[in-house]
Amino acid sequence: MSENKEQAGFSENVDRLFDRAVRKMNLSEGLVEKIRIVNSTYTVRFGVKLRGDICTFTGYRSVHSEHTEPVKGGIRYAPNVHQDEVEALAALMTYKCALVEVPFGGSKGGLRIDPREWDNRELEQITRRFAYELIKRDLIHPSQNVPAPDMGTGEQEMAWIADQYHRMHTTDIDSRACVTGKPLNAGGIRGRVEATGRGVQYALRDFFRYDEDVAVAGLTGSLGDQRVIVQGLGNVGYHAAKFLSEEDGCKIIAVLERDGAVINENGLDIEAMRTYISENNGVEGFEGGTFEADSDKVLCADCEILIPAALEGVIHSGNADQVKAKLIIEAANGPVTADADEILRNKGVVIIPDLYANAGGVTVSYFEWVKNLSHIRFGRMQRREEEARHMMLIDEIEKATGKNLNEEFKKRYIQGADELTLVRSGLDDTMRGAYADMRKLWHLNRESDPSMDLRTAAYMLAIKRVADSYKSLGL
Ligand code: NAD
Repeated sequence: MSENKEQAGFSENVDRLFDRAVRKMNLSEGLVEKIRIVNSTYTVRFGVKLRGDICTFTGYRSVHSEHTEPVKGGIRYAPNVHQDEVEALAALMTYKCALVEVPFGGSKGGLRIDPREWDNRELEQITRRFAYELIKRDLIHPSQNVPAPDMGTGEQEMAWIADQYHRMHTTDIDSRACVTGKPLNAGGIRGRVEATGRGVQYALRDFFRYDEDVAVAGLTGSLGDQRVIVQGLGNVGYHAAKFLSEEDGCKIIAVLERDGAVINENGLDIEAMRTYISENNGVEGFEGGTFEADSDKVLCADCEILIPAALEGVIHSGNADQVKAKLIIEAANGPVTADADEILRNKGVVIIPDLYANAGGVTVSYFEWVKNLSHIRFGRMQRREEEARHMMLIDEIEKATGKNLNEEFKKRYIQGADELTLVRSGLDDTMRGAYADMRKLWHLNRESDPSMDLRTAAYMLAIKRVADSYKSLGL
């Protein structure tokens, strides 16, 4: 991958994008500064006895804004996690939650570790110890700070964290709400694992609902007509690629992973590729396409939609000019630097920004948190009652017409909404609502202000909501 030689760190990039939006708003300098700054970052170094010696780990939990609580944000496991990265991600969480109207402030955590170097038992010990350090300072707490999975973590780590919290707060009836992204049997919710990828799919569906937006990107046809390149086939990238290819008919013509890329102009078999990666730790040797070691070349290859779903800063001033995609959807956090953003906008590339594109995860995390606090599965009370009422209507229609309705239709119509259906409906509604708000602001200003784009609109909406919240607190 070509190296990002820009001097600006991740936080500075987020700040620059924030500043661009703020310049178009009428807010006092003091309020802008209050919204921008990271409230606090806690650094912890702890030792765990492993493999006959003590291993020391460094972790972070950063709180960007507590304008509403709890604060929310994933915990990332990666070998190069650092404070600037965690703070930038915490800020993005504040704006993301405000944009999709999820009532959380922004936070993020990270542990400097390569999870692939440790076995399951060791990871459990490390995760429990990290969680212990955060829990005893209320940096994991159902009403104050609620983590979730991010890069390098998943359901298993969240289950360990929830259990650790419960062990330290045995009488807290709401203890399961201390973390989201848990497995179902530990208080999770259906649809959370795939939620971020599902959200990326819904975001693209929203974009293609508006001919005007499709035309601005210089695209034609429907979502299913587009050729897509995906970087990173992890949780987010895999689910987005799977749903877009299986349900919308998109061709995923290339997938980039750590060791290179695989290309197939006829479309890759995402399921087979995911299995291959998990067995071989990379894509080289996958027989469903042609291997290319130079990932950066593939990142800039000809396609309609590019989905960076791995890391921050992968599209930068050094390669933005060569990007051929007409539409970039930021499934990862911060994959396009502020410099690259400028270059791409001038080229006419439309970017669906991270704070909207990957908000599916936090949206469904919100549903999980509500489920944990209400101690009941969504749909449990009304599902069968709904089915009985639908059945009554069908019976009446059949009696009145003397005809039997189509069996397949009856089956689908009668079905009451279960938890997964409700989660998908809530996610779809959230993504549609936020996109409609964003595009309205974008189009209102686009003609008169060429620097107006979807990202700026998203930031403006988010910043206004955070500002209103601070104002109502009397600040
Ligand atoms: P993950 O660890 O499941 O997957 C990351 C994938 O990227 C892995 O397959 C990894 O091998 C690949 N990768 C790593 N380095 C790469 C490189 N240099 N080139 C190509 N591929 C590379 O992580 P994830 O949870 O899918 O998160 C991915 C991104 O999405 C991150 O930016 C994260 O912050 C963001 N995100 C995740 C969630 C979530 O719910 N998991 C929610 C919102 C945003």
